[in-house]
Amino acid sequence: MLELSCNLHSLEKKIEFNDSIITCSTNSPIPKKCLRQYVSKGIRNSELLEMMTNPALWPHSKQITKELTDIVQFDWLPQDLIIHSERLVSILNSVGNVELYVQKRLKWDCIADVSLLMNKYLLNENNMEVPKEFNELKQYVYKIETSAIGWCPHSNNDNTCYFVTAMKSARLIFWLLTLGNDISIQYCGEIEQEYSAIISKIYWLSLQNSFLLVTCNELGQIVAYDCSIEDNKIKNTQTKVLWPHTDKMVPISFHYYLYDDKIIILFNKHRHFLVQMFDRNMELLSQYVESVNDFKIVCITQKHNVFYLCTENVKMYTIDICIDDKKLNVVLNEIKIKDMYPGHELCSLAISENKALYALAMVDQRVQHRKLQLKVDVVLLCAETEIDAHITKIIQNPAKTLSNMWDQIEVLRLKTMKTKTLPKMDYKKLLKEGEKDVYKLKVYYVFLTLYYNLQKYVVKKRKRLLPELSIDKIKTHILKFQAIKTLTSLYERLQDGKELSEFDQQSFDGCKKFIQYYCEKYSKCITDLIPQNILNSVTTNIQHVCQCCDEELIGLTCKSNHLNMFCSLTFTPIVEMNYLICKVCGMTAQYELHKLKPLCPLCDRYLSDSLLPL
Ligand SMILES: [Zn+2]
Ligand SMILES: [Zn+2]
Repeated sequence: MLELSCNLHSLEKKIEFNDSIITCSTNSPIPKKCLRQYVSKGIRNSELLEMMTNPALWPHSKQITKELTDIVQFDWLPQDLIIHSERLVSILNSVGNVELYVQKRLKWDCIADVSLLMNKYLLNENNMEVPKEFNELKQYVYKIETSAIGWCPHSNNDNTCYFVTAMKSARLIFWLLTLGNDISIQYCGEIEQEYSAIISKIYWLSLQNSFLLVTCNELGQIVAYDCSIEDNKIKNTQTKVLWPHTDKMVPISFHYYLYDDKIIILFNKHRHFLVQMFDRNMELLSQYVESVNDFKIVCITQKHNVFYLCTENVKMYTIDICIDDKKLNVVLNEIKIKDMYPGHELCSLAISENKALYALAMVDQRVQHRKLQLKVDVVLLCAETEIDAHITKIIQNPAKTLSNMWDQIEVLRLKTMKTKTLPKMDYKKLLKEGEKDVYKLKVYYVFLTLYYNLQKYVVKKRKRLLPELSIDKIKTHILKFQAIKTLTSLYERLQDGKELSEFDQQSFDGCKKFIQYYCEKYSKCITDLIPQNILNSVTTNIQHVCQCCDEELIGLTCKSNHLNMFCSLTFTPIVEMNYLICKVCGMTAQYELHKLKPLCPLCDRYLSDSLLPL
């Protein structure tokens, strides 16, 4: 797993990544011994052969499971379902087990064995004894093993999310996942299947108030189910076969978008690229089928309304779709890649949030011939854009948060390191705008950090370029905005008639003291920043003492300037062992806030738990 390290202070002349590894689990949902008992009684050769070649039956041997099991499906859960400020990933292995993983520092931990939870329902329902006949045994195994999983693309508001599993017996079962203190799942019904072949892929297409579930089976058939969920029960209103042919080609990628009341789907069948347009009743209006080149399509990717297609021979295309009344016009435009990769086979493409970086996974075929361990090269490309265009994108980010800008910032960092200069632009204007707009101030902070990086690296000084050079000052300005934000939100809670807890009152007091300290330091008038009635709405006055000398704290330090750890969201001293910390800049916050999933006030990234294992 590669993740941008977002390390602004890095002096590396390459894109910096943190890499982590998820090891494939060899767990199987089949009750232990079940298959082994069957084998121990002695079996026919034909049965043994099938037990070796059919992954569903591998769990009969510990050795085979351990050696052959691999990951067959990997999916991110919806963005807002997080644990320890990290997103969850579901992994399905080839013996049909589903598990949820979460990253803890550089290591991934399994936090829930979903198959085990499903078994509580499945085994109970079947109330099955272990069969004595081979075919019955196979059916028994097929009932419990998962062949594909699909997640609803968005979660519900209460930390729950729907998902669907296709069992190897071709049953389609819906579940509700709940992330609480424990992780639990609930059965939400199932839908009748059109074909009996094993389902290899499931896609969940969100529509207004309903959704389409598209399944592809081993034989290459594609079926769409029109569904909705009410009171945690699944309802299937109609079923349409989108592709009836048994060509045995399972699409590698599948995407969709909505255009007026039409649904456009894009997928591949080996070398062929298909686009289909349906009306809301899933009647086919128009279809485009074309072979792209003589090579296999390895992936179709989507980034904000733009679709990309890649083929095995390292060719990339953008897909332009034009809808003319009820007709589809599809054009593929090749993206020129500067370097050549002879002997390489492209496996996949990923595009960063703002399309600043393209990551291509490739395998060097020459290495394979030498029977060396299979190695995947990840080649990072960035689009040839002027640095100015790049900066404009960052400054004019409509979301006004750095959260989604880190790919652009990393490319900017790399470019400043490579050219050894800070880009020329109107920094005065940026700083001026930062007086009112905290986002601009955060962007200024980014440039200032890059400036100090260059200072360490290049001797030549260009002091006059930036109007303000104190990192501390910029940081304090940014924190002031945070203190105002916290105060205002607490005030609004009071206005809504809600009571403030002791923690809230401490936070209020902390923020107020911080603003007073700020105004004194920079000779500002406090009521210019925040109305008096907000300041007066809570009247607690809590004295904190320094953790080193027990002297009273004024502002953020004591008389002797000892360093105390402060919460950057509530401005109260942190005395607990456990706290929240930003992995990028080291900002800290009270652990008590973790339920609110807070962001770092400087980098806009989720704060993580300080006590996570290394
Ligand atoms: Zn002290
Ligand atoms: Zn941070």
